[in-house]
Parts: sequence; C-alpha cells; structure tokens
Amino acid sequence: MTPLSAAPDQWNPAARLEEVKARVHIAEAQCGRAGAGVQVLVATKTWDADAAAAVVAAGGAVVGESRMQELAEKGAALRAAGARVHVIGQLQRNKAGIAVEYADCVQTVDSMRLAERLSRLCLEAERDLEVMIQVNVSGEESKAGVAPEEALALATQVQALPGLTVTGFMTIGLNSDDEDAVRAGYRRLRDIRDAALIRSERGEFPLADAWHLSMGMSRDLEWAIAEGATMVRVGTAVMGDRAQT
Ligand SMILES: *Cc1c(COP(=O)(O)O)cnc(C)c1O
Repeated sequence: MTPLSAAPDQWNPAARLEEVKARVHIAEAQCGRAGAGVQVLVATKTWDADAAAAVVAAGGAVVGESRMQELAEKGAALRAAGARVHVIGQLQRNKAGIAVEYADCVQTVDSMRLAERLSRLCLEAERDLEVMIQVNVSGEESKAGVAPEEALALATQVQALPGLTVTGFMTIGLNSDDEDAVRAGYRRLRDIRDAALIRSERGEFPLADAWHLSMGMSRDLEWAIAEGATMVRVGTAVMGDRAQT
C-alpha cells in the first residue's frame, strides 16, 4: 500500500472547510434551496490519521474513506476524533468486517451479496449500520454501482435485511465538463430517490429513511446541489491534491 501522506505544509483545514461550506451555501441559494443544509463529507483517503483528525477538529463532521486497508489504519483515530465515518469506495466482501468495525455508513452497497454479508456481520457485532445504494447513473462500464432500473428493487431488498437501514442513494458522476450530461445523471439519481420515498409513503415498502442523495465532488458540487444533493463528497478542495497512487 502507498504510504499515507502527512498534512500539506501551511495547510489550514478550518479555512479550507469554510471555503467549501461557503460554496455550498451559495449553490443552495442560487438554485432556490437556501438553508437546505447540504452536508459536506470530506474524503480523507490517502491522508494520514493526523491529517484526517485535523479535518474533523476543524468541523469536518463526516469523513469518507475509500480503501479498507486505510480505514483499518485510521479508523480508531477517526472515531476518537468524533467523526462519522462513511465508506465511499468499492467494498469487497472479504473486507466488509473492517467497514462494520469502523464505519457509520457504507455508501457503496450495489449487490445483495455484499448487503447480506454486512447484515450478517452486524448481527454478530450487535450493531446497526446505515447503508446507501450506489447507482451507476452514467452507465460507464468502469464504474461500480447497480443499474438505475435495478436500484429501487435492491434498496427494498436491502432494507429488509436485519441490522441495515437504507438512508439513501449515492453515485459517482460522469467525469466531464458537459454540464447537461453530468446533471442528467444526478437527476436520474434524484428520480430514483423520489420514487423510493413516494412508494414508501404509499405504504408499498418501508424506505422512509432513504432520503439522502450523496452526489457531487470538488469539481461539480454546484451541479449536484442544483439537482438535489443532500450530501457532497469533497476531497481535494479541502485536503489539497492527493499524491499520485
Ligand atoms: C475521492 C472521492 C471523492 C472526492 O473527490 P475530489 O475530487 O477530491 O473532491 C468523492 N467521492 C468518492 C467516491 C471519492 O472516492
């Protein structure tokens, strides 16, 4: 594994976080969602435990980790710092135990096999775990996530598993400067979430907690917020550029 990076020189996490939160507030206001309270998850992957804990101390209440080896290394420090920890990278079933040990939420559930494993581990650990359904809205083959037309069925099945609560839907947007194309993907995720909430309200299935839309990163959080994001995932805009891995 690539060694984790120490915090950048002259780095002021509180100031960086304030800048990002200001961007979020402006974006909310510009699309008529002033006061929406969009949450900022700071992606701390590749940064060491001290750097990640500094972000938490600066007000980064939710952090995201992508690689389970890193989470195993930093998890205890993140929890001690008082962070809520979300898994935002692809999770292999044989690493699910690390997520159940340290994470509050796994945003990247895209199969029943993974969900069943998480559920079983939660029962053993006598804990509950929040999960989101990762959806591949762009249809790119390289991307993880369930197909949009299968997302609602998967959410329903996952919600039925003991120990798991589906709190929403997550996607990694198209990596493109084409605003229309990127936003169309985010809209697709919102449509899935809206369908889940409407059908839940009608009593067809219990997905009342599935209101989160985790979408948007440093480069495009404004577009995601305009399409209804409730949580944006920001790495470089707070932490600085990651070392090449
Ligand atoms: C790293 C990461 C982010 C943050 O990306 P930045 O471009 O650094 O803001 C968001 N989501 C996921 C899933 C990531 O792995």
